[in-house]
Amino acid sequence: MKTEYDNQHHKTDRDEVIHLLRSQGKALEELYRHADAVRQQFMHNEVFIRGIVEFSNVCARNCYYCGIRNGNERIKRYTMSMDEIMEVVRHFPINGQGTVVLQSGEATTAFGDKALGELIRRIKHETPVAVTVSVGNRPRDVYQYWYDCGMDRYLIRFETSDPNLYARLHPDSSLAKRLDCIKTLSDIGVQTGSGFMIGVPDETVEILANNILLCRELDLDMIGIGPFIPHPDTPLGNTPNAYASDPEMFFKALAVLRLFNPNVHIPATTAYDAVFYNTGRDLALQRGANVFMPNATPNRYRNDYLLYPGKPCVDKSNDQCGVCVIHRIQALGRILGQGPGHSQKHAAKKMA
Ligand code: SAH
Repeated sequence: MKTEYDNQHHKTDRDEVIHLLRSQGKALEELYRHADAVRQQFMHNEVFIRGIVEFSNVCARNCYYCGIRNGNERIKRYTMSMDEIMEVVRHFPINGQGTVVLQSGEATTAFGDKALGELIRRIKHETPVAVTVSVGNRPRDVYQYWYDCGMDRYLIRFETSDPNLYARLHPDSSLAKRLDCIKTLSDIGVQTGSGFMIGVPDETVEILANNILLCRELDLDMIGIGPFIPHPDTPLGNTPNAYASDPEMFFKALAVLRLFNPNVHIPATTAYDAVFYNTGRDLALQRGANVFMPNATPNRYRNDYLLYPGKPCVDKSNDQCGVCVIHRIQALGRILGQGPGHSQKHAAKKMA
């Protein structure tokens, strides 16, 4: 069967992406400068702040890379209550956070799909904060119910565009199912975000290029990417990142992603700070990113939501992170985005 990937147009783009990913020296400086200029032209100087509340680490899945996988018996499982979450979200506007990202492991039983709908309703009624949900694969009727409750956006990374590699990393799912969830969400009308990890074991530069092009093909509203970081209590704990000897690749991927997706929200994800200690996210903001996602999980739970080791700020509170992120953005000469920072693309699609 001939797919989108086989046509000549795509091959030319893929060659171009691979060429850019191999940039060195002056060409690399030029790539970063160009990515920053495209970000400036399409997304301007605002950096939107979206606080993440990691409301439960209970997970039914066994993704081979993830620290909160079901098989990891070394962590204490927790699920926050609705009131605990509301208390955190009420503080958001004070710290300039216009969106809450509600993230958890994938388990219908912990918080409950029905309760999550009620939580979305409460946040939308009681605060001015926009709601993004990131809790993995669910059936269409559940996504529809959350949308009807007021859910604005959903984050669900496809992790890798290679179906065989996906299957090797996820013993209990498939790339086809994941892509189906992404398509269902956009079809319902939710602003949809996806993305991938950079450098999962056995990833080639060709797969990385296809990851970048798949983001464009999916016509996403937000794209989050970040380096794979081996977690010692997972089956991939001893397998290094595919670009361990060339971590610059993490930024090259981000810059190329921006060139191929000019008007999309791209966060400087936390994993960049774990690899480039406390500077990674600032560099990401200068090489294509326009969104910052500080950790807003209550301090007492942060150490139990370690998807990967070296996660920054686990000893900090939401207010500390809230103030720190504002300073970081201002130090880069950027301004704080006001309001929810909805997708530009989504607004255009709705009007069409
Ligand atoms: N259960 C939700 C949220 C998953 S955690 C879902 O299925 O979408 C959020 C993201 O963390 C994942 O999509 C994955 O890309 C990233 N992640 C998990 N383990 C990681 C690791 N070891 N290194 C880097 N990123 C990781």
